[in-house]
Amino acid sequence: MPNKKLPTKKVATKSVTKTAAKTATKAIAATAKVTSKNADAGTPLSVIIRRRIEAQKARFHANDNIAAFIQPGELEGLVDEVAEKMQGVLESLVIDTQSDHNTKNTSQRVAKMFVREVFNGRYVEQPTLTKFPNVSRLNELMIVGPITIRSACSHHLCPIMGRVWIGVLPSKESALIGLSKYARLTEWVMCRPQIQEEAVVELADMLEKKIKPIGVAIVMDADHFCMQWRGVKDRDSKMVNSVMRGAFLKDPNLRREFLSLLEKR
Ligand SMILES: [Zn+2]
Repeated sequence: MPNKKLPTKKVATKSVTKTAAKTATKAIAATAKVTSKNADAGTPLSVIIRRRIEAQKARFHANDNIAAFIQPGELEGLVDEVAEKMQGVLESLVIDTQSDHNTKNTSQRVAKMFVREVFNGRYVEQPTLTKFPNVSRLNELMIVGPITIRSACSHHLCPIMGRVWIGVLPSKESALIGLSKYARLTEWVMCRPQIQEEAVVELADMLEKKIKPIGVAIVMDADHFCMQWRGVKDRDSKMVNSVMRGAFLKDPNLRREFLSLLEKR
C-alpha cells in the first residue's frame, strides 16, 4: 500500500429506517394475497416488488438491500424478467443472438449473474452473525484484512476490485463477531452496485451497530474499471477511502497505529 496520507473523514451516522423493513414483511404477506391471483396478471414482478417498497416509503437505491420486500421463489422470476430485457439490450446493440453461438444465451447468463451473483447483496438477507460476549474483556486494537472486495460502480456497472481493512477497538461491553463474519458482511454490502465512498460508510455504520465498539476504522483500496477499461483508461488509477469513527477519530496515536500496521502488509 502506498505510503501516503490517508484522508480522514468524519461522517455522520445516517439514520436507516430498519423498522420499515420489518413492517414490510407484514405488508408483503398482505400484498401477496392480492398479487398471487389475477389482480396483477401481466404486471412485471419488478413492478410488484417496487409497489411493496413504495408502500413502506423505503429506499431502493442501487446499494440498498430490498430482501424484506421479496418473497421466497420470486428471485427466479426476477432473473427471467431481467433476461428478457437484457435480450432487448443485445438486440439494440445489433448483435445477432440467433446465429452467434456465443451470445445465444448471454441474456440469461447476464441476468443470473446480476441477480444471483454480483448484485446478490441487494436481494438476500444479511448473513446471520453469531455474536459472543467479550468475556476476556479485550480492549486492544484488532485489525481484520485484507478482505478482498468485488463490486461494480453504480454509474457504469463496471467492476471495482480491491481490498479492505477493518480496525476495531472493542469496549468491555462489545459483542464480538467471528473473524470470518467480517468478510461475509463485507461481501454482502459490496455485492451491490456501489460507490466506494458510500460503501465504506455503510460498512462502518453496520459494524458500529453490531459490535458497539469504542472505535471503528475502515480503509478501502480499489481498482475502478470505469477508469481503467473506459474513460481516462488509466491502468494504475486507484482509489483509497477511509472512515474513522469514535476512538480512531479522537486519538491520533490509535489512528497512526492502525495505519502503520496496514502499511506493513
Ligand atoms: Zn463508473
